[in-house]
Amino acid sequence: MNSTSELGIYINGSWRRGEGRDIHNVVNPATGAVIAELPLATAADLDEALDATAKGFAHWRAVDVNERAAILHKVAGLIRERAEDIAVLLTTEQGKPLAEARTEVLSCASQFDYFAEEAKRSYGRVLVRPTGQRSLVLKQPVGPVAAFSPWNFPVNLMCKKMAAALAAGCSIIAKPPEETPHCTSAIMQCVIDGGVPGHVAQLVYGVPDMVSRHLIASPVIRKVSFTGSVPVGKHLLKLAADGVKRTTMELGGHAPVLVFDDCDLEKAIKLSSTQKFRNAGQVCISPTRFYVQEGIYDRFVAGFAEATKKVQMGNGLDASTIMGPLANDRRPPTIEKLVRDATDKGAKLLAGGERGEGGYFYQPTVLADVPMTADIMTDEPFGPVALIRPFKDFDEAIAQANRLPFGLAAYAFTENARQANLVADALDTGMVGLNSFVISMPDAPFGGVKESGFGSEGGPEGLDSYYVTKAVHQY
Ligand code: NAD
Repeated sequence: MNSTSELGIYINGSWRRGEGRDIHNVVNPATGAVIAELPLATAADLDEALDATAKGFAHWRAVDVNERAAILHKVAGLIRERAEDIAVLLTTEQGKPLAEARTEVLSCASQFDYFAEEAKRSYGRVLVRPTGQRSLVLKQPVGPVAAFSPWNFPVNLMCKKMAAALAAGCSIIAKPPEETPHCTSAIMQCVIDGGVPGHVAQLVYGVPDMVSRHLIASPVIRKVSFTGSVPVGKHLLKLAADGVKRTTMELGGHAPVLVFDDCDLEKAIKLSSTQKFRNAGQVCISPTRFYVQEGIYDRFVAGFAEATKKVQMGNGLDASTIMGPLANDRRPPTIEKLVRDATDKGAKLLAGGERGEGGYFYQPTVLADVPMTADIMTDEPFGPVALIRPFKDFDEAIAQANRLPFGLAAYAFTENARQANLVADALDTGMVGLNSFVISMPDAPFGGVKESGFGSEGGPEGLDSYYVTKAVHQY
């Protein structure tokens, strides 16, 4: 895929190509070169999609859950079959190394499989009363969904929403990011080929603010799901409030990592320095603020800096690349400014700290002794920068971890089981990883507290967010 004729928006069962629509240039972030032109939806396109999604919902909610599940399993199978091709598209337009892209694409198949099965088990409740009265608590699909997903995990995050919504019996209009349309369109083709009707799942790209305002204002849309930044999440919440629409908001984070002196230090350094640079740090749950207990601070800092210098940066299609470019031209200047502010205020630069040549590269970077006054200790860097500071005791570590308005993910390294339990209880986040950074899987809830959002994606909780509850009382 590399030309306008092949990219399009998918409305009511057909791909619509350029045909006079405004265009967004798609760029390869490893080179900065324009690789395709993406047609953007007009207001008339969105109206057509809204009309279709209303009809699609009426049809799909009446399809037996086993039949829906069979279709979703077929979609999963097609994604697996086409995974290699889709992974190359993903790397070419998003930048992440091919191995990461493969994992991401395969995670989409797992989501379709998981939600297909989980929906079969979405029972309601029966309340039996001595008078002979019965009360039924029914779960019904919430209705047509508008789903907005970002560019850092373009296919995974689109599928999290689409697989759960379709499994529950909802229709969906997805608006994935304009930066990465080839991979999301290729996934959409799997959805189409798997047998999801054209009025049930639709795909648009457009000017984000125009699309979200238009869709959310429509009485047809009953649920809004968004993954992205806190400011945009707040804006969409306000739009949704006008129609009292249900929302799931998966917003930003600034994840703390508490490294206690009773941890397996070698393991903590190895996992931390690997995870920090996954997807060039453009991960909402990326470990970012490393608080390390004083007794092991120097050894942790030295080990982390040494490991970071070995991270090979380059084009994600090269087999030797461990970290690719940042995804778009907004990221390098943002990271550069945050790093400069931190070093100006006294942070020690121990690795990286420079942009790279060619595309949107920024070196894997380690800052130690970062002052609390540095902007980067408060603003989510969303890039390949690790911040390290020492702490004395448990209470100080927890206070530091919980001090920001974010509450998405937090991590701790300790071999002391009691300490692990206490820290997991005390961290004010939606997710905690203990001695591990693996916290995202289809069958577990994923979501944050405080300004990181609310609601969960993944697990029965994620599916549940696509149902409404109806109580039926029978005398
Ligand atoms: P941004 O805040 O403009 O956009 C974030 C995402 O929201 C993008 O995918 C964008 O297309 C979408 N978006 C923007 N305005 C929208 C609107 N009015 N309606 C619907 N969607 C809209 O910034 P950006 O430069 O793309 O990313 C910067 C910041 O966003 C990052 O620093 C990070 O904090 C956050 N972000 C978070 C995630 C996540 O997984 N939670 C993903 C991507 C970006």
